[in-house]
Amino acid sequence: MAGNFRTGSGYDAHRFCEGRPLILCGVHIPYDRGLAGHSDADAPAHALTDALLGALALGDIGKLFPDTDDAFLNADSIQLLKKAFSLPAFREWEISNIDLTIVAQRPKISPFTAVMRKNIADALGLAVEQVSIKGKTTEGMGFCGRGEGLEAFASVLLEKRK
Ligand code: MG
Repeated sequence: MAGNFRTGSGYDAHRFCEGRPLILCGVHIPYDRGLAGHSDADAPAHALTDALLGALALGDIGKLFPDTDDAFLNADSIQLLKKAFSLPAFREWEISNIDLTIVAQRPKISPFTAVMRKNIADALGLAVEQVSIKGKTTEGMGFCGRGEGLEAFASVLLEKRK
């Protein structure tokens, strides 16, 4: 693969539902609803996995971990993220930095970003300073603003190992 750098972007959205825990970047967030999904529905972890896969043009999380496969029912998405990054294609690449944005009207994300950054950094063998996580609202606009769901955007830069 030509070049010393590769960049990837990822996106995911899940609908809020009753009776499930809210898990974001592997962190259990106290809230009265969780996110619907086949796995634990950790949208920022899914967006980040897609960003990593996208950087090396390896497809997406749905191709790697199909939601038709019962092996991934209620799966821990941090484990899926680690599994994706352990693909042989990543061996000659290291992550330079990650930038994640979580869009939710509620709950407030900022009290949890420190523990989320640590969780992502630990999962991928990075320093916390290489992982940025930001929470945003949409000032009440759209599906996030109405509290119907939550979305996440991720970007990642890979650098070829020396
Ligand atoms: Mg997803």
